[in-house]
Amino acid sequence: MVRVLAQVAMVMNLDKCIGCHTCSVTCKQTWTNREGTEYVWFNNVETKPGIGYPKGYEDQERWKGGWVLDRKGRLQLKSGGRVKRLGQIFANPHLPTIDDYYEPATYDYDALLSSPARTDDTPVARPISRLTGDDMAITWGANWEDQLGGTAEHGPQDPNLATLTPEARQKVKFEFEKTFLFHLPRICEHCLNPACVSACPSGAMYKREEDGIVLVDQDTCRGWRMCVTACPYKKVYTNTSTGKAEKCTFCFPRIEAGMNDEWIEAAQLSPIWKLAMKFRVALPLHPEYRTMPMVWYIPPLSPVLDAVKDRGGDETDADDVFHAIADLRIPVEYLASIFTAGDSDVVGGVLMKLAAMRSYMRELTLDGTVRQDLLDATGMNAEDLEELYRLLAIAKYEDRYIIPAAAKRDAAELEDTANSAACSLEKDGAPGMGGETVGAGQVLFGATLQVRKA
Ligand code: SF4
Repeated sequence: MVRVLAQVAMVMNLDKCIGCHTCSVTCKQTWTNREGTEYVWFNNVETKPGIGYPKGYEDQERWKGGWVLDRKGRLQLKSGGRVKRLGQIFANPHLPTIDDYYEPATYDYDALLSSPARTDDTPVARPISRLTGDDMAITWGANWEDQLGGTAEHGPQDPNLATLTPEARQKVKFEFEKTFLFHLPRICEHCLNPACVSACPSGAMYKREEDGIVLVDQDTCRGWRMCVTACPYKKVYTNTSTGKAEKCTFCFPRIEAGMNDEWIEAAQLSPIWKLAMKFRVALPLHPEYRTMPMVWYIPPLSPVLDAVKDRGGDETDADDVFHAIADLRIPVEYLASIFTAGDSDVVGGVLMKLAAMRSYMRELTLDGTVRQDLLDATGMNAEDLEELYRLLAIAKYEDRYIIPAAAKRDAAELEDTANSAACSLEKDGAPGMGGETVGAGQVLFGATLQVRKA
């Protein structure tokens, strides 16, 4: 395990995610809008149930990502020990192909722009592969299920459904569109025990001691791609132009380098700590992969509320929702297979807490009623429940982003760093920036991502 002095982390509230993909697009504009990363999404938003990106990445029997315990109870990479991995270094059988992601395409816009006026038919812009330049048929995309209605067809192949009972699977299969749907935004987990770092034969992947962010040293990477196999979340990508690994940087240039007291104060104020440890409503994504992921999720209550409505119940009535959580095994078991390694009681407990919080605050706001029975159901006092509500419902930017400020004594040094373009996103030549203007005002950021060990 990599030793770190501090660890930055994130919690995503899935009841708030509406699948608008704004986060994916801004991330792509900043980090992967350049040659060789056309298919790459450091941040992507998946539709669940669904098979995700790359297809079926959660099926570790197929991809061999994450860690397992060996016969002596010691952690070992699922992709095998050092000797086995070295034996596969030139022919790794567990790598996603471009079809598992999707072949990036553009369109022959010139066919539209320079077409002469005509009355017989309408000019058509054919799709063209961004990798080969050939005409192609588009059969898959980053959000195919979401945007193009493929969930009913591909959702039943979701690896998380494999853990459900045969009856539940049948029900999901036959009543898919009526069952439930939610969105899952995903970035690199900046794991405490990163399988990608352990699998890298070149030592190019590393976890920063000062904040726990996992990065790739571009000078050292030799493109062996062992990190791609080892990452169970498939959040390391190969730049098809440079052949080197690239991954989410947790926007490290945006995180100022805080020191000592500032880190401790930020940790004490952290909403992450409150949501995960104090209120215990944030859960890790697939903890069974044993990488100790550092991006956690508030599980969505919406699948249960949808089911309450389908049953003719009142989604604002705590009793109806409590009964639904207890009775409706499909959403709860499905969420458990994603967030708690199959432990339905933990997910059910979090959903109960969220449902009780909603009902308690509703009655308090409408007519000032204090429902002690709902407080008892959550095991929280009124002050804590209202704090959780504020955090989830109405928290301001400064309450949600607690990042240690730089120490004053380091201000001059940081300013120099920013001015030298090593750290700022706004400077030419900075990470993800630079490049040339193409087409009608479209900008391609062409600089190589230069992340180097300090
Ligand atoms: Fe490494 Fe990120 Fe994958 Fe964890 S999620 S194994 S840190 S690439």
